[in-house]
Amino acid sequence: MNFELSDDQKAIRDMARSFAESRLRDKAAQWDQTKEFPREIIPEMAELGFMGMGIPEDYAGAGLDLLSCALIMEEVARHCGSTALTLASHNGLGSKHILLFGSEAQKKKYLPDIAQGKKLSAWALTEPGSGSDASGLKTTAVLEGNEWVLNGSKAFITQGSVGDIYVVLALTTPEKKQKGISAFVIERGAKGFVAGKPEDKLGCRASDTSTLSLENVRIPKENLLGEKDQGFIDTLKILDQGRVIIGAMALGLGRGALEESLKYAKEREQFGKPIADFQAIQWKLADMATELEAARLLLYKACAKHAAGQPMNTEASMAKLFASEAALKACDEAIQIHGGYGYIKDYPVERYWRDARLCTIGEGTSEVQRMVISRNILREA
Ligand SMILES: Cc1cc2nc3c(=O)[nH]c(=O)nc-3n(C[C@H](O)[C@H](O)[C@H](O)COP(=O)(O)OP(=O)(O)OC[C@H]3O[C@@H](n4cnc5c(N)ncnc54)[C@H](O)[C@@H]3O)c2cc1C
Repeated sequence: MNFELSDDQKAIRDMARSFAESRLRDKAAQWDQTKEFPREIIPEMAELGFMGMGIPEDYAGAGLDLLSCALIMEEVARHCGSTALTLASHNGLGSKHILLFGSEAQKKKYLPDIAQGKKLSAWALTEPGSGSDASGLKTTAVLEGNEWVLNGSKAFITQGSVGDIYVVLALTTPEKKQKGISAFVIERGAKGFVAGKPEDKLGCRASDTSTLSLENVRIPKENLLGEKDQGFIDTLKILDQGRVIIGAMALGLGRGALEESLKYAKEREQFGKPIADFQAIQWKLADMATELEAARLLLYKACAKHAAGQPMNTEASMAKLFASEAALKACDEAIQIHGGYGYIKDYPVERYWRDARLCTIGEGTSEVQRMVISRNILREA
């Protein structure tokens, strides 16, 4: 068993770290407060390959393995959860669906612009009435001549109002329920396809989230993505990788909380000594570090199985579940270690906590991850 990153992976991690420290660290609090979508950094991230990290070089992407993508996500989230969520959705969902299930023509048409950051991708599965039970969606797509006509609404869509290329899941054979769902590509500006105003969120506030409404949206027949009625089944495969990406985002936020706490505990004095000298604080730091390291190992194991071409549905869910809960706990403890200062915005830990809160909800809640894991281990027992 080898726990070492390759030289290439170390170089990618170091490059992402340097970018996050120089371009995100000092801006993240301001973006969080103003809820401003940080468009200015998209071209820079494209230049570094972050906008097409998992997209092969043939389609102008960086062609990175899943572990390298996770390393970038961790480094970006270490300083800015909002930017990490933008990257997670753009790379892990929208473009991933096109890459894994699109035709050659669709990949050639959409992926290069996505990988170069000229166009942002979004992925729309969730609806106002269907979240965890995503297969209960109600949006419909009906073939009329050479066009699909879509009607319905979507909720909580990342890049909902700023996206350019949307992958939208809709019922094509309603009586077949989850086996009657298909995916479609809809481009920004399609008639009848309207985004709601950006949601005012607890955390990841500079990541764009909005509803989408579809009223008689007509798109060409060839915008069907993957096979008809296979969309939901394809979705489950996309989510495996997406969950690793969200787990890595959580790890970055948790690491941020730990690093800020280590620094603060050495600086802050009470009762005539640094609070790092108190065992109560030391044990918190030890638990944070241990749980984050365990999260890292679970993530790396899921990535290793993926690299070996093996199924990693259970491992991805375990990694996402554990990393998101460990990160949230670490952020919570970081606030405690910072005392009253942890509760105000002069220090970043309250923002990390708010950003990490998303990670136990998005791409399947912790309860859903436990359902996936228990279903798999019971089947194998
Ligand atoms: C910031 C943000 C960004 C998002 N981005 C996207 C996106 O880009 N695209 C997209 O399609 N979606 C997106 N989502 C939606 C997200 O995936 C859903 O919010 C999530 O899947 C949960 O669905 P829900 O909110 O409807 O909650 P519900 O499904 O209504 O769940 C409510 C509670 O009930 C629990 N629960 C539900 N079913 C069960 C069960 N069987 N057993 C035990 N507990 C259960 C849940 O775990 C949760 O605690 C985003 C959400 C947020 C907040």
